[in-house]
Amino acid sequence: MPFKICPHCDSETSFSKRVIKELYTVRNDSIEMQTHYLKCEKCCEEIFNPEDGDPLENVFRVYRERHGYLQPEALKAFRAKLVLNQKEMAALLRWEEATLHRFENGALQEVSHDNAFRKAMTQEGLALLLENAKWNLPSHTKKRLRELSLSINNTADLEKIVESKGDELSGFRKFQQSRFVAILALLCKETGEWKTKVNKLLFYADFLSFRETNLSLTGLRYVHQPFGPVPKEFQKIFASLPKEFFELDVFETGERIRVTAMPDLSVLSIAEISLIKKIVDTFDKVNATKISDISHEEDGYKETQNNEFIPYSYAKKMKIVLDNLLQRTF
Ligand SMILES: [Zn+2]
Repeated sequence: MPFKICPHCDSETSFSKRVIKELYTVRNDSIEMQTHYLKCEKCCEEIFNPEDGDPLENVFRVYRERHGYLQPEALKAFRAKLVLNQKEMAALLRWEEATLHRFENGALQEVSHDNAFRKAMTQEGLALLLENAKWNLPSHTKKRLRELSLSINNTADLEKIVESKGDELSGFRKFQQSRFVAILALLCKETGEWKTKVNKLLFYADFLSFRETNLSLTGLRYVHQPFGPVPKEFQKIFASLPKEFFELDVFETGERIRVTAMPDLSVLSIAEISLIKKIVDTFDKVNATKISDISHEEDGYKETQNNEFIPYSYAKKMKIVLDNLLQRTF
């Protein structure tokens, strides 16, 4: 237990854990969260489990995921990349310093602020801001930022192909290229992976994530195809993978996706990375045909027709248990 003295009755006591599902309303969204409480066994008062962090901050986190907003860590990471303090970064964005400070510390940003920051993260956006900056930065800093802006490469072509709305069919997450390339790189490992198998790994990664957290991992939508569930537009997606991270090797039997450089993994949480690794381990010795057969057994596949979307609601009925599968032999 994190603490032994109850803040309510002031006595030395033990606590029992209780999980409560709570519905929060943020702007126009309803977000269900599991909140963990500790119940004092002497006075029966309940307190938040401090290990879980601020519940409202967690709700904002989910809201940002759904709408594809930047998380506070992403704001901080980009500022760190530019090597600017909050005052300088705010000046570059033409924001109040307090505004940036609040967003970096977990306040929920407005869509206009999110768009502005996102734009600053692109090559053209940053160059434009530097062009119009009215504050006095030393010339060597401006020069450094200008050079840095040239090295930014995030044209986000995949986001145009995928057309994820962050709705039910996307597992309530808006597709983001930076997250997708990180997930894909982990699924393909250093040795590379067959495209047909990658489709199934993505399906399991997304649906198992949804089963646990009510959020998909990538925000991809899946359709029923004769050989199993596949991401909508998967051919276009694989043809447009960013060249700085992936290469396609063509064989007579199919194509393999090879990772040539590791993308930034800090866009994923530790829990997300561990889920992906678990999926990779589970299906390590399972070939594309076998994993396709396994996916045919899922209700989401059996109860949909060719070319129909597979709703994420089927995730709750998924039969697959990762740990059990590890013990099965194929
Ligand atoms: Zn108490």
